Amino acid sequence: RKKILQVHHVKKYFPMDRGKQLKAVDDVTFHVYKGETFGLVGESGCGKSTIGRTIMGLYNKTAGEVIFKGRDVHALTEREKHAFYREMQMIFQDPYASLNPRLTVREIISEPMEVHRLFPNKRKQNARVDELLEEVGLNRDHANRYPHEFSGGQRQRIGIARALALDPEFIIADEPISALDVSVQAQVVNLLKTLQTEKGLTFLFIAHDLSMVKHISDRIGVMYLGHLVELTESDTLYDDPLHPYTKALLSAIPIPDPDIEEKRERIILKGELPSPIDPPSGCVFRTRCPVAMDICARKTPTWQEAKPDHFVACHLYNENGPKVNIQGHNKV
Ligand code: SF4
Ligand code: MG
Repeated sequence: RKKILQVHHVKKYFPMDRGKQLKAVDDVTFHVYKGETFGLVGESGCGKSTIGRTIMGLYNKTAGEVIFKGRDVHALTEREKHAFYREMQMIFQDPYASLNPRLTVREIISEPMEVHRLFPNKRKQNARVDELLEEVGLNRDHANRYPHEFSGGQRQRIGIARALALDPEFIIADEPISALDVSVQAQVVNLLKTLQTEKGLTFLFIAHDLSMVKHISDRIGVMYLGHLVELTESDTLYDDPLHPYTKALLSAIPIPDPDIEEKRERIILKGELPSPIDPPSGCVFRTRCPVAMDICARKTPTWQEAKPDHFVACHLYNENGPKVNIQGHNKV
């Protein structure tokens, strides 16, 4: 499989008062294969949006590399960056805030086409806007209306049409359904799936819980306080999670099958999410981990392949680490 994106030891720190730093993203490494959906999951404040924006080049990185199709995103010239945005686009969480209320739907979708001078004339451009509206389940009659005239789900469709306007290969969807009613979430997810199949799109799908992500992602990375803590195939993550944090996240998803329900107790994490300005020593999850050990405060667990294609950062799985029964979801 071809890697379209490589995120290599990326750090993004924001300077704070009195010489402190907010470590939003702290040494994150993963890659995305062409044509897949890679889910990035974690509580709000874990750094997943910051990763998305750093990949897009909207934020400078503090350290590491973002390689898209063999090229370092943060080393592109202005001209190259312009071309890069034809290949990578973003869908945002809040379709209310991300669409300019003073522009018509046609103007919103046309804007990137105009910036990139995609069409020789308005007629061709308008025809493409009409086509895009149909591709996202709206129609040309919607083109002359304003964002406030639409529901949340329809607005997100407009956001998707705009992201598709340049015919990109890669889309970062930053919590695209989190602000929507549950009843329309599945519709938007299905639309994204259909578009992916039709256009061969690659998605980085960012979300704060696993419930929807596990259905649409091929692989999933779990983030906690700026760190990736586990990464593997979606099914494997669900059936055989390794990291105590992943187990807690999974335990929060209701399971319709009563046989499975028996095996999966709800794990309530103690305490609050620590501040990324002053993260815990050793393992960043240790202040809330139900099975934390002495070594967890002293040593940062290494990111390692505990099983084939299954990565985790936790001392339970270190070669020299303590031998603990780690089977099942409930026995963390
Ligand atoms: Fe818990 Fe220690 Fe593993 Fe961190 S390294 S998740 S504190 S057991
Ligand atoms: Mg966010």
